[in-house]
Amino acid sequence: MPTIRTSSISRRTLLTAAAGGGLAMAAGATATLVTATPARAAQHLWTWCYQCSQLWFSGNGSGYCPVGSGIFGWDHGHQSSGSGDYVLRYDTDPGVGDSHWRWCRDCAALWSKGWSDSGRTTSYCPNSSQPLRWHNWSGSGTYKIEALPDGINGPGGQRLWFLCIRCSGLFFTGNASDGTCPAGGAHRHWKSPEPQIGYEYVLRQL
Ligand SMILES: [Zn+2]
Ligand SMILES: [Zn+2]
Ligand SMILES: [Zn+2]
Repeated sequence: MPTIRTSSISRRTLLTAAAGGGLAMAAGATATLVTATPARAAQHLWTWCYQCSQLWFSGNGSGYCPVGSGIFGWDHGHQSSGSGDYVLRYDTDPGVGDSHWRWCRDCAALWSKGWSDSGRTTSYCPNSSQPLRWHNWSGSGTYKIEALPDGINGPGGQRLWFLCIRCSGLFFTGNASDGTCPAGGAHRHWKSPEPQIGYEYVLRQL
């Protein structure tokens, strides 16, 4: 299972000094301290599934795992046991990274719409009713993920997360098994020939 390393997500506070309402009020004007919540905070509840090894969002049901569980193998919810609580930033949050990631409404996995749109990867959703099995980005934010080697915001975090060129998902390779791809068989990353950049990612936990 992924090892846990923590990192603090700084919450910005907004300091606003109220301006006086004109010369007549200048003498009595007071500065007002306002603490505002960030416009869009980074989002947690992203979870590693030990069955498929993908990152998925656990805040909205259990999604659809390509691996069935239960007595008859009919339960297709992703699993959260053994996972940390990963935090993803939105593309509007500060910091560098690859900004083309979306949540899939049909399977709950994180997937790269950008790479799939460019034709470098194939989108394959295990719970799609469409013939081409595209992941469904309806209702999703756009997420920004730190990418090796240059798109990194600092030390720490967890490496060994890769873009799968077969399903466009993000999967963890730090265990004996790389999981199961919705497209069948194992996920496949794109690290050959070396050095290949832009396909290994770094995640941080809450
Ligand atoms: Zn799964
Ligand atoms: Zn999907
Ligand atoms: Zn895959």
